[in-house]
Amino acid sequence: MSAMLKITLPDGSVREVAPGTTPADIAAAIGPGLAKAAIAARVDGELRDIMRPLEGDTHLALVTAKDEADALELVRHDFAHVLAEAVQGLFPGTQITFGPSTDDGFYYDFAPAKVDGRDRPFTEEDLPAIEEAMRNIIARDEPLIREVWSRADLIARWQREGETFKAEWAAELPEGEELTVYRAGKGEDAWLDMCRGPHLASTGKLDPQAFKLTRVSGAYWRGDQNNAMLSRIYGTGWLNRKQLDQHLMRLEEAAKRDHRKLGQEMDLFHLQAEAHGSVFWHPKGYIIWRVLEAYMRRRLDAAGYQEVKTPQIMDARQWEQSGHWGKYRENMFVIPDEVPNTEDEGPVVSNEAQWMALKPMNCPAHVLIFRQGIKSYRDLPLRLAEMGCCHRNEPHGALHGLMRVRQFTQDDAHIFCREDQIVDEVSRFCDLLDTVYKDLGFPDYAIKLALRPDKRFGSDEMWDWSEQSMRDAVAVTGRNTPEWGWEELPGEGAFYAPKLEFHLTDAIGRTWQVGTIQTDTVLPERLDASYVAEDGERHRPIMLHRAILGSYERFIGILIEHHAGRFPLWLAPVQAVVATIVSDADGYAEEVAAALAAAGIRVETDLRNEKINYKVREHSLAKVPYLLVLGKREADERTVAVRPLGSDARQEVIGLDALIERLKAEALAPDLR
Ligand SMILES: [Zn+2]
Ligand SMILES: [Zn+2]
Repeated sequence: MSAMLKITLPDGSVREVAPGTTPADIAAAIGPGLAKAAIAARVDGELRDIMRPLEGDTHLALVTAKDEADALELVRHDFAHVLAEAVQGLFPGTQITFGPSTDDGFYYDFAPAKVDGRDRPFTEEDLPAIEEAMRNIIARDEPLIREVWSRADLIARWQREGETFKAEWAAELPEGEELTVYRAGKGEDAWLDMCRGPHLASTGKLDPQAFKLTRVSGAYWRGDQNNAMLSRIYGTGWLNRKQLDQHLMRLEEAAKRDHRKLGQEMDLFHLQAEAHGSVFWHPKGYIIWRVLEAYMRRRLDAAGYQEVKTPQIMDARQWEQSGHWGKYRENMFVIPDEVPNTEDEGPVVSNEAQWMALKPMNCPAHVLIFRQGIKSYRDLPLRLAEMGCCHRNEPHGALHGLMRVRQFTQDDAHIFCREDQIVDEVSRFCDLLDTVYKDLGFPDYAIKLALRPDKRFGSDEMWDWSEQSMRDAVAVTGRNTPEWGWEELPGEGAFYAPKLEFHLTDAIGRTWQVGTIQTDTVLPERLDASYVAEDGERHRPIMLHRAILGSYERFIGILIEHHAGRFPLWLAPVQAVVATIVSDADGYAEEVAAALAAAGIRVETDLRNEKINYKVREHSLAKVPYLLVLGKREADERTVAVRPLGSDARQEVIGLDALIERLKAEALAPDLR
């Protein structure tokens, strides 16, 4: 008889069990409630099947649906297997490849069987039948059984079944790795996939109402476009129906708020292929920009920043010196500094040209300003701000409306300071950013510290020091706590510095990384920036790169989606429309509009000979905050019927002067109130 195993549970208690005991057995021994709730196990930290026998003395934690991240990962991977089994049942001859879990579900890549000698990729019309087949597999409650196979047996099995992709993969799996398959069901015709697992104990553990197949697409085998094109089916998968419904509602809500859709309905901006990734701002969209920019300027002025403007294009030698040419060249737009040809018959430009590049960031130019004249320790901190227009060569496929563009304007600034000023400067920045986010309607945000990446400049001592300064600065503000989402992210810093990241949470719970601040000792060194210290010697300043909004383009995109186009009055492109019911009121309408405009309100008139309901619908779609409705009675009494956006038929009649005072107060930017 072999020795008993010592199993240590999370509460520290130890159980002695016979070899071959599974985590499921232990759950059952603890109690029927846990036996039912336990879906998997963490064995010495590793997530494993609940039915996989324990092999030695271990620490064991049972996983239930309450361990949501683990549970979701498990069910999503199970759904992928069930999808593959369903597809192979419905479409014999389909080959299976890979099917991982994703952030909200799963997908599986198939090589569909040819039909009449032609490829027959899956279409959305196939999805309902596949979902039905998946529900049947779940209803059959097939046990999912882990087996370890020899490589030769596995390859032979896949070749016999005509699974050439799986056979190829089995041959390439690393030496020494245990090759496992999961068998769904019992006996000879059980369905098999090669997989590391883990999985739930059986398909019946899945909620048949907690998944939905969402779309199909093409995908290359192993992500390589020289390989076979596969057919990918995506699904979203959850622990229960309620979670699925909430997810589908969030998607629907996100689609309604899509800034590209609202941008068109509100006539804010457009994009077109002739300027991939660069935005055409329409008058109404650019008003939002101007209001936001004016607000930021006032906040920066008050916080002791000085605004500068630097060149759009600089010589390649400058970018070599700053290090961007070496580390960032692939993202830069490089242009020849062409010499125009003066001869009539010759080419337009001479063929000898120096290389220049559009700036992908403003930092080197700010160092060049710092270097003008001798700086003393008394000049520090020096805070240089720029609404800096930058270009980065993003691949076309990565571009997305205002959220991912190639030309963007940062609310950039660089703070040159002494080592002993860092903690103060970074904590001041955190306070400024907090004020701005609250003013703009984002009280919820998380702070994260991105630590040194593999590809980097600078010594380990420098990184140790700058990472610690960031921690210290956030500690001063008291925001290095879980409530502030404080977290350290190894490997995610910039190539020259660690970085604090500020992630906003929007109205529908999505997060957006916008603000950053990073310490940098590398660029001042490379570009030879120095100041005269108290000891009379030259010292290097520390450079802090920081942004609050990130870029105006993306931030306005986020604002549009966060507010669903219903901007607070101070940001709304058109704040009020004066609409008439009868043409008798036209003269008074012009008078009302003129009075509002004189008070600084952005107002339009709608004197068209249309029904008032038609006008209401149109201006509601354009998300105008106030519709001011005028009929003959309002004209006679010098009043206005005020109809706020989204108030249905509710309206309030008030005097013109009172209206002006009310709108003026509400339209003030938060920092001017
Ligand atoms: Zn699997
Ligand atoms: Zn910078």
